[in-house]
Amino acid sequence: MQLDELYRQVIMDHYQHPRNQGELEDGALSVDLRNPSCGDEITLQMVVQDDVVTDVRFKGSGCSISMASASMMSEAIQGKTVEEAIMLAEKFRAMMRGESVDTEELGDLEALQGVSKFPARIKCATLAWQALERASRNVDASNHSS
Ligand code: ZN
Repeated sequence: MQLDELYRQVIMDHYQHPRNQGELEDGALSVDLRNPSCGDEITLQMVVQDDVVTDVRFKGSGCSISMASASMMSEAIQGKTVEEAIMLAEKFRAMMRGESVDTEELGDLEALQGVSKFPARIKCATLAWQALERASRNVDASNHSS
């Protein structure tokens, strides 16, 4: 099987069977984001306890790339510290810029590598990560206010 075909299957699997789809109870950090250029919408929710992402959920609608990326991200950041999650976001962005990154840590996210060749779709792939970065900033804000 061609690598491209394998990647396509991984993306379609996440799109058709999204992981961690749904909503969390009150108290979760919540971020809504849209990607107007494609019409993708996402609501990302996460619970952070002692700086660790203990739960992640997302819901939304959009193209296969945006939804698959959100699904993959939700799996990848579960159980990580906020700092590790942000580092992963940076690594993902580097991959989207076409830089060669150590893909081991990325897991299924590696399947989105090919998106870097399609500039119009990069925003689709990074939408969930943008939401993650915003939610993380809110973690800091809530820590400071308490
Ligand atoms: Zn899209």
